[in-house]
Amino acid sequence: VSVATYAQTQVIAHRGYHAIKNSYDNTISSLINAQKLKVYGSEVDIHETSDGVLIAIHGMRHRDIKNVQKATFDEIRSLPLENGETVPTLEEYLIQAKKSKKTKLIIEIKDQLTPQLETDIVQKTVDLVAKYNLQEEVEYIAFRPFVCWEIARLAPKGTKIAYLNGDYSPQYCKGMGCAGIDYKYSRLQKKPNWIKQAHELGMYVNAWT
Ligand code: MG
Repeated sequence: VSVATYAQTQVIAHRGYHAIKNSYDNTISSLINAQKLKVYGSEVDIHETSDGVLIAIHGMRHRDIKNVQKATFDEIRSLPLENGETVPTLEEYLIQAKKSKKTKLIIEIKDQLTPQLETDIVQKTVDLVAKYNLQEEVEYIAFRPFVCWEIARLAPKGTKIAYLNGDYSPQYCKGMGCAGIDYKYSRLQKKPNWIKQAHELGMYVNAWT
């Protein structure tokens, strides 16, 4: 029984559960849909606008805006998504996350234009999570080692952080401040020993997508 329990796979909705009518990725509706399924977590991508607002959106592009990091929040907000919702702020996401604490929020902090902006987005994210007292319900992921390093430096001790880019060993990621690795499944198929090494180091292993 203990082995079966240990092996139970946990599911994280990627950009929320949006593959459903009237939803769209990284929206409040996609988070609500994931919460209704009671999955382990719901992932969300975060960028910072040119005027310092943290928003939930996957890519740099939004409608005719080529780079959301160079646009203001009002410019982005004035253009609705395909399903009619507007691009949410991280704060709006946290308010919804607080309504259903069973589903964790997995916050992916996206690469920013400079290291200074990466420190800034990490600090603002950590502060907002603390404002809503969601430290226990939030985990972090990032593609940049520097972003992982900054989360480990600025978030409370014991915060779960996993590195996404697939190019470093579990031991190196642990030194970066990560509690886990979160690699593309095909990378883990090529490096099955990294799963074993991570577990031996007390780290968790996630695979995308
Ligand atoms: Mg993501």
